[in-house]
Amino acid sequence: MSRVAFIGLGAMGAPMAVNLAAAGYQIAGFDASASARENVAGQGMKVCPTAEHATEGADVVVTMLQTGAQVLSVWEALLPRAVAALFIDCSTIDMASARRAHGLAQESGALSVDAPVSGGVVGAKAAKLTFMCGAEPKAFERAQPILKAMGARIIHCGGPGLGQAAKICNNLMLGAAMAATAEAFTLAETLGLSNQALFDVASVSSGQSWSLTSYCPVPGLVADSPANNDYRAGFQTKLMLKDLRLAETAAADSGLATPIASAAARLYSDYAIQGGEEKDFSGVIQAMRRRKGS
Ligand code: NAD
Repeated sequence: MSRVAFIGLGAMGAPMAVNLAAAGYQIAGFDASASARENVAGQGMKVCPTAEHATEGADVVVTMLQTGAQVLSVWEALLPRAVAALFIDCSTIDMASARRAHGLAQESGALSVDAPVSGGVVGAKAAKLTFMCGAEPKAFERAQPILKAMGARIIHCGGPGLGQAAKICNNLMLGAAMAATAEAFTLAETLGLSNQALFDVASVSSGQSWSLTSYCPVPGLVADSPANNDYRAGFQTKLMLKDLRLAETAAADSGLATPIASAAARLYSDYAIQGGEEKDFSGVIQAMRRRKGS
């Protein structure tokens, strides 16, 4: 069984590393934050003082970080130490950094996979994440058993970088659909149409979406939606905003305009500025209601 260095033990990385350890992998973990390191102590893995220590003797390195710059700096430092290894990045990062990371791995003779996830902290804890993978077939094949220990669905989206492309495009759809759903409820309220009536119609009509029937932005209509819990995340608005900006950047780099992503990003940005940054992204409806009459 592989020895895995797990770098980035935050909200997502910690439960993912714990699940890998529970599946029998030998895990050496590192996070730049002392409190993140303390959180995983005693949970089946060795916690190391540096990323380099964690990588000693590892044949797989998994990163779960916030930005492309962080991933590149960690991969640059660790690739020379892990000969013939497999590098898997599960972070959500920009396409250019993802492609650069694959290039670095190739130069070092390592296999590499970009494998961003969907499913959030709940999915990470339950080992039910969806992994969207960009990789050469050989790298994907080698990564599969490791990803299976942390997830329920492992999808090979294509060559290097295309896992990030799938994640960015999926979250563009999600961000836009939630914003449209919230806007429709705000308009319905203004027109005197009840939330229940709109839900009853749209949930069985062409307006139906996951944002409506699984994650409704209005409280009391769907069990377990963050709206029922004062918009406690869930999926934080700042993360949705990050993903929409990644979509805008990827589009701009390819000469494409994405006006829907840009409009949605402005709405989530307004909500973040008004104090919604750490709230669930479905709380964007609160910012829309405040706009009434302004
Ligand atoms: P987080 O901020 O909780 O964790 C990231 C960790 O990386 C932090 O603990 C930080 O200290 C550590 N870190 C940063 N630079 C480092 C370095 N150079 N070396 C070692 N550790 C370093 O973030 P998260 O919520 O766990 O998200 C991780 C990634 O997953 C992000 O890219 C995010 O966009 C993506 N994601 C998050 C969610 C979610 O619901 N939280 C869902 C899907 C995808």
